[in-house]
Amino acid sequence: MLIQSMIKETLEMQGFRIDSINKSSLGLLVRIVADRRFKPRCGICGAMAEYRDNRRERLFRHIPLWGVPVMLIYAPRRVTCDHCGGIHVEALPWASGKRRLTTAFGCFLATWARLLPWSEVAQLFQLSWGTVASAVELVVSYGLAKRDLSGITHIGIDEVSRKKGHVYLTNVYDLKTKTLIWSGEGRSKETLRAFFVFLGSEQASRIQGVCCDMWEPYVEVIKAYAPKAILVFDKFHIVRHLMDAVDQVRRDEIREKGKEHKNLLKDTRYIWLKNPWNLTDKQKVRLTSLEKLNLKINRAYLLKEAFRQFWSYQHRGWAEKFLKKWFWWATHSRLKPLRDFAWILRRHEENILSYFIEPIHNATVEGLNNKAKVISHRAYGFRSAKTFILNLYHGMANLPMPKLLHTFV
Ligand SMILES: [Zn+2]
Repeated sequence: MLIQSMIKETLEMQGFRIDSINKSSLGLLVRIVADRRFKPRCGICGAMAEYRDNRRERLFRHIPLWGVPVMLIYAPRRVTCDHCGGIHVEALPWASGKRRLTTAFGCFLATWARLLPWSEVAQLFQLSWGTVASAVELVVSYGLAKRDLSGITHIGIDEVSRKKGHVYLTNVYDLKTKTLIWSGEGRSKETLRAFFVFLGSEQASRIQGVCCDMWEPYVEVIKAYAPKAILVFDKFHIVRHLMDAVDQVRRDEIREKGKEHKNLLKDTRYIWLKNPWNLTDKQKVRLTSLEKLNLKINRAYLLKEAFRQFWSYQHRGWAEKFLKKWFWWATHSRLKPLRDFAWILRRHEENILSYFIEPIHNATVEGLNNKAKVISHRAYGFRSAKTFILNLYHGMANLPMPKLLHTFV
């Protein structure tokens, strides 16, 4: 009797009642029957509908009690619905769709699945991996249907790789709320187009700013689907390109000047790339002595350090002037990697300088992308991109959870 009232108090079951509770080989078996005082509701539209017949009994796994599995057993009714037309299976307040677990158990497992790999959650509760996957799927599909995307004005587009760089996913973030809006497989035009189709043209027209890497396929799609948005190339990606150029100068110089030079520049990679104020005392001393040698890498270093100033301008005009000067310096530096980088800037100038009109960058979502990488490293058990994406939504989209009568975790 006590168990019965506890189940009634913690599980949404209006229109139904508990017929009996028995201990079986499956655990506690809670038999549920319809409460004849209430009309059944249509499983599609939720309207009250006419009883037609009963389906076979179904089992719903519920949250274990003292480690004892709990199963609900019920034979769902079929109803004739006037509202949406047709014959459908009734709505059940404790479960949704064809799922074989209660919504409460789904939320319970999904909460654990945020903290542990799915395989470990499965092990912990003696379930199959598929049950955990379906719990996460339940919560995510609820959340995706209920979330409100109407406030999106600034988006950041970034990519993560799955399976060590073999498979790419394109992630779209809301830069204001720092949450994941969308994730799709690939990084082609079609991938980003799928995002805009998902978003819808009305919503896309409200986007004021888009931040992404200098990646041509994206640029074209953004211009087509969000023509009013200001496109800004992400400053951190730009800086990364610059760092790569500087490092290339170092490697080229070692190759040109041979073995002796290799010893001279040994272990200096981070000295050239780090912010000067982050250098250790030892590195500072080393840098000072290297600076006297008029090395190519030192010229590259000075160009890199000078470029830092670019981001500090308040107005586009001043930034543009600076960029022109820097471009001249870099293209006359006789350092090919820096010259190439300068030309990249020149070609993309418009969408780099737009930063000074719409100062957005993806650093805010970089943390999220790192989280995505952590999730991908934990990929054991993610058998497909679909489940991987599911987990990204689960961990990064801040989705609303189904409302429950009782908080189980
Ligand atoms: Zn209906």
